[in-house]
Amino acid sequence: MRIDVVSIFPEYLSPLDLSLIGKARREGLLDLHVHDLRSWTTDRHRTVDDTPYGGGAGMVMKPEPWAQAIDHLRSVGDESYAGARPLLVVPGPGGRRFDQAMAHELAGEPWLAFACGRYEGIDERVYEHAQEALDGRVRVVSLGDYVLNGGEVAVLTITEAVARLLPGVVGNAASLVEESHEDGLLEYPVYTKPASWRGREVPPVLLSGDHGAIATWRHRQRLERTAARRPDLLPSSATLAGGKELPIR
Ligand code: SAM
Repeated sequence: MRIDVVSIFPEYLSPLDLSLIGKARREGLLDLHVHDLRSWTTDRHRTVDDTPYGGGAGMVMKPEPWAQAIDHLRSVGDESYAGARPLLVVPGPGGRRFDQAMAHELAGEPWLAFACGRYEGIDERVYEHAQEALDGRVRVVSLGDYVLNGGEVAVLTITEAVARLLPGVVGNAASLVEESHEDGLLEYPVYTKPASWRGREVPPVLLSGDHGAIATWRHRQRLERTAARRPDLLPSSATLAGGKELPIR
């Protein structure tokens, strides 16, 4: 997968050199390009923002550098990918909420680009230009119902959630299957050695070697944890592996 990120703080994306994502880049599974929006400014001060029309607090990102950045992505598509366009993801609190299902959708894209807003956001005409230049492949995505200072943290989050779904990025693919949000339930509690620690014991069933009993226990834990912490995720009645109904608390 190719990913382009445009930001006025390219160094904000440096954590993408670390851990599994950094390894995926070094192994060629992820082709990441981080661009400084200011490289598409033309004035001495490399200006990317100006006061809002209509008045009000804060500054708005100017359209010209963003249009140059988008045109650059389009020309990369023409020159290197036979006219293909990236899916442009614009992080913003007014977008569709990011979740595991969207992470899977994005992981199916061969090329993603991210436009990191700052200040009060990006001049609205940039979205219209991007729609046209990228054949309608533009999506506004929100991390949640709160306001960040810029899109970079959202890009780190989305990139990590998406990249770990790419084949070969997470060493043991089986570990992706049972995770929280994969099938609508949260994950069961996990334990490691020692079996007894500061007077706290690992649940005996996990030491029993009885795989059926362990699966049933884990499923019940997933239901109970989801009911306790995220009841909104559960259908009106949820069943245990054995077909037994679990009352939702
Ligand atoms: N004035 C904007 C509003 O009220 O919708 C908020 C602008 S915010 C201070 C600056 C930038 O942070 C946004 O352009 C966006 O890139 C990013 N951002 C803020 N909150 C976000 C969220 N919940 N999800 C994704 N990106 C967010």
